[in-house]
Amino acid sequence: MSSQSGPYFSLEVAGIVEETPDARSVILSIPDDLKETFAYRPGQFLTFGVHVDGHQLVRCYSLASSPDTDSAHKVTVKRVEGGRISNWFNDAVSVGQSLSVMKPAGHFCLQDRQTPIVLFSGGSGITPVISLIKSALAKSEREIRLVYANRDAASIIFRDELDALVADHPGRLRVSHRLDDVDGFLDGPAARAVIAEQRNADFYICGPGPFMDVVEAALAEESVAADQIFIERFEMAETEAAEAPGEAAGPGGAVEIYLDGEVHSIRVEEGETILAACHRAGVDAPCACTEGYCGACMALVKQGDVEMLVNDGGLDDSQVEAGWVLTCQSRMRVPGGRIEYPDAD
Ligand SMILES: Cc1cc2nc3c(=O)[nH]c(=O)nc-3n(C[C@H](O)[C@H](O)[C@H](O)COP(=O)(O)OP(=O)(O)OC[C@H]3O[C@@H](n4cnc5c(N)ncnc54)[C@H](O)[C@@H]3O)c2cc1C
Repeated sequence: MSSQSGPYFSLEVAGIVEETPDARSVILSIPDDLKETFAYRPGQFLTFGVHVDGHQLVRCYSLASSPDTDSAHKVTVKRVEGGRISNWFNDAVSVGQSLSVMKPAGHFCLQDRQTPIVLFSGGSGITPVISLIKSALAKSEREIRLVYANRDAASIIFRDELDALVADHPGRLRVSHRLDDVDGFLDGPAARAVIAEQRNADFYICGPGPFMDVVEAALAEESVAADQIFIERFEMAETEAAEAPGEAAGPGGAVEIYLDGEVHSIRVEEGETILAACHRAGVDAPCACTEGYCGACMALVKQGDVEMLVNDGGLDDSQVEAGWVLTCQSRMRVPGGRIEYPDAD
């Protein structure tokens, strides 16, 4: 039987796979009564709430498993230098441990089309990409090309799994590895050459920011239509949007924020999002996508009148009805009130 705290469900770690010297996969056990809640589409991610050094941090990790070919839910976490949660996953998580996890979310998914698929992935960006590949191989006849960049051969996550997929699907899946220490970084001409071979394809991109910039620029130069391009960003933009989207600005005013066992009195400026106001005030409120689709910044409106301008799947109807909002997309309609970020456990 499962336990739940706000948007977080408690899931047990069923297994751990050391993938490379700096990445490991964590396999999660889903109790029968949560099977429906944790049903997912290939390319989606899970959001984890983790207590580290007395603070609760929230991070998203894509499912590297495929609902069409794998029986278990698996996320794969690569160490980030100085990163708090990626290193915690690699050093401290063990089998039998319970993790606080939100239900799957995300739009980096397959379209109902029969055109080829070209995927550009770098480093840990392979996680949603391999999920898409496994499902596309299993559920369609689409031709698939993967360009996969890594620092060196030792850093390649899922190398054996990809080799096996290529062997099992001769002629349908092509994988081109690019290694920085041998080939240098992927550049515009190399990306354009791949794109030009299959301009009618759907293009999926996930990797480090500069890698994605090169591929996006190459797609633009090759005049690929926007509806053929799908992008998943693991890194937040340098400056998160401080202004809530929408036309009329909400009035500013004081508001109480509950986070991590503490109450902070902050001021939300006119038109400012609650999340941006928290960060400006030095309150480390959780967030990830800042675009209204991941749910990492969700909080409960205990008092006050809050307007949420965008909910791109971050919350379901029952959560909205219960008073949850995405703070990256919400502003105060009238000053005053109390907003509570959920405790992960
Ligand atoms: C939708 C989505 C899916 C994702 N899927 C995956 C996945 O499948 N696999 C994966 O590995 N990652 C994935 N990520 C990235 C992941 O969520 C984390 O961002 C990543 O693991 C880094 O988190 P961290 O807590 O380790 O790093 P953080 O602690 O957030 O640190 C990140 C960087 O900031 C620096 N930093 C931290 N604190 C400070 C400070 N006070 N001052 C200055 N610099 C600082 C660190 O040195 C580090 O370089 C995904 C992200 C998103 C949004």
